[in-house]
Amino acid sequence: MNYKQSGKAIAHFNISNLDQARAIVEVAQELNQPVIIGASEGERDYMGIEMVRTIVNELNQEYDVPIFLNADHTYSLEKVQEVIEAGYDSVIVDGAKLPYEENVTLVKSCVDYVRNYEQKTGKHVLVEAELGYIGQSSSLNTALPEGVTEANLTTPDQAKDFVLRTGIDMFAPAIGNVHGMLIDAEEPKLRIDRLDEIKKVIDVPMVLHGASGNTDEDLIASIDAGISIVHINTEIRKAFRDGEMNYLHEHPNEVAPYKFGHEGQEEMKKVVRAKMQLYMK
Ligand SMILES: [Zn+2]
Repeated sequence: MNYKQSGKAIAHFNISNLDQARAIVEVAQELNQPVIIGASEGERDYMGIEMVRTIVNELNQEYDVPIFLNADHTYSLEKVQEVIEAGYDSVIVDGAKLPYEENVTLVKSCVDYVRNYEQKTGKHVLVEAELGYIGQSSSLNTALPEGVTEANLTTPDQAKDFVLRTGIDMFAPAIGNVHGMLIDAEEPKLRIDRLDEIKKVIDVPMVLHGASGNTDEDLIASIDAGISIVHINTEIRKAFRDGEMNYLHEHPNEVAPYKFGHEGQEEMKKVVRAKMQLYMK
């Protein structure tokens, strides 16, 4: 199968454990789609940087679809160096909360490091960076994170300057997308018009972060407007938690992690499947 033609966008899902990793890859295999597994700094600290790489290597041996490993939101050059040395396929440098010039400086220093590493080793690593603030936590929220405002949406002028000056391979704009998910309220609508404007002035693929809670309609529109990778974390975390919680509620004396873990996987797979099928349309 030609993967380039099969799906319009590649799914990116985060993991905190092996149960989640396997649930994601089983669906990817079922749908015959490549997939990106992401691990943020917090997720890597929990599982171990090297262990995450080992798990994804093993999964690549066991399954027939390509599984990429991305170091999600990484906030310093030092942490970027750690994941590059550990053999991650890509890294997201997140300086979105910094003043613009500091963001450019941080990202450029990471890109320089990675390009140097590529020259020395012959390996290829993708560097992504974000501009415009969309919050930081993949959690259930009662209000939009502080700093997520219309004024902090990415502008085409800054996007152009940022991509040019940093030399990044992929760009994550803020177009109304928000990390985490709102409880009891609708997510802001994505600004597809802004995405269109940004796409016109940059020549690298674009990545949509914080897609949990956005409508199918908005996700399709963003993919049609040029999004190549869609990040979902909170929605699969919630499904995994709900699956385990519901099972334990019904079986309060169950102690076997593989039993309640399985229920978490099954709930999570429903979300993973629905998202991946959406991106294939
Ligand atoms: Zn993100």
